[in-house]
Amino acid sequence: SRDSVKGFLKRNLFVLFTVAAVALGVILGFALRPHNLSLREIKYFAFPGELLMRMLQMLVLPLIVSSLVTGISSLDSKASGKMGVRAVIYYMVTTLIAVFIGIVIVIIIRPGKGSRDSPVTNSGNIEPVQAADAFLDLIRNMFPPNLVEACFKQETVEERVPVSGSSAGVNALGLVVFSMCFGLVIGNMKQQGQALRDFFDCLNEAIMRLVAIIIWYAPLGILFLIAGKIVEMKDLAEMGSQLGMYTVSVIVGLLIHGLFVLPLLYFLVTRRNPYTFIGGLLQALITALGTSSSSATLPITFRCLEENNHVDKRVTRFVLPVGATINMDGTALYEAVAAIFIAQVNDMDLNFGQILTISITATAASIGAAGIPQAGLVTMVIVLTSVGLPTEDITLIIAVDWFLDRLRTTTNVLGDSLGAGIVEHLSRGELQNQDAEGHDSVIEE
Ligand code: ASP
Repeated sequence: SRDSVKGFLKRNLFVLFTVAAVALGVILGFALRPHNLSLREIKYFAFPGELLMRMLQMLVLPLIVSSLVTGISSLDSKASGKMGVRAVIYYMVTTLIAVFIGIVIVIIIRPGKGSRDSPVTNSGNIEPVQAADAFLDLIRNMFPPNLVEACFKQETVEERVPVSGSSAGVNALGLVVFSMCFGLVIGNMKQQGQALRDFFDCLNEAIMRLVAIIIWYAPLGILFLIAGKIVEMKDLAEMGSQLGMYTVSVIVGLLIHGLFVLPLLYFLVTRRNPYTFIGGLLQALITALGTSSSSATLPITFRCLEENNHVDKRVTRFVLPVGATINMDGTALYEAVAAIFIAQVNDMDLNFGQILTISITATAASIGAAGIPQAGLVTMVIVLTSVGLPTEDITLIIAVDWFLDRLRTTTNVLGDSLGAGIVEHLSRGELQNQDAEGHDSVIEE
């Protein structure tokens, strides 16, 4: 077991590097702040971080497609159906719990009470969006008319609300739906489908090997992503007390959800120690913090779950790409808190029906948000319009969004990962059955 000792050291060395990178990034960032670097200088300085972002994003598309196609085609359709239902139930239940926690906290803390701290500076470029249109966009995205276009473009409200630094990115939802159907079909094609199954299996393996290389660069990239952002951020003293309390509300909610509720759920289902499991995820969580994108973090999430936590590949390949695209507990919680905060600032009393509407639209907005930086801020429009709140008030919360985005992305990744652990546990019957039958269509024949 010398190998396992070596493996253990190697894993922990990386975690150590990654944690050290965060600490160094914070120190470096604060050390450089007094020098008032220009935006251009900050861009140069943060360049190694930008490179990490690009490397990870480069892998997302082939990773989503190959993992879903192989994952699903290697399961028999009964097993994948059951697993899919379990995953969706988990996503729904945890997202609704997150929204509930957010609502309770923002009602207790009341960060928006009293009159406005600061007048709204209406940037004038936020168009009202009908909630119904946004729902239709969500469904539209599931069925991209052009697969090639889906690789770089999606149709969403996001296009109508320009947020700096966020690009629309791939239509992950469309690719997820397509890959799942495709996997299902070639899984049922017996011998005829063998070449395709082999192809995607091999593609997936190759991408994961690329991830193993990029992971060496990750700590350096994370260091500069974090340092760059700290140099760039506005002075905290400029933040009004309302905005401060709003930030606290979101943080408290995310902490309760991520550190207590989700782990408790994991424990209740699996009877295993959730914090050991979370320990294995550290690298993915820190990458989420650094990149504020659950899609970009996806390659690392895969690696942590498979290598450190030994979650069955048939499960991770299936549930992780879907989770990273639609399961966003952190985003849902934040959407609910932000909407109610804006209502409080506007002295608007929400009745029970309106709060219910906010819970539902916040859930939808989190499903619709792409796993890219600040996507949640944009889908906020849906929540606000649904209860008649002024959409231009999004500008009230933009100042702190870069920071909250990082925290909610970390919560999103945590939720997806614990979900994979839970679904694996619940599906162990089917997985063992398949092992016993030797029904792994990829290896079969
Ligand atoms: N950045 C988040 C994510 O990638 C989405 C959001 O903006 O809430 O998970």
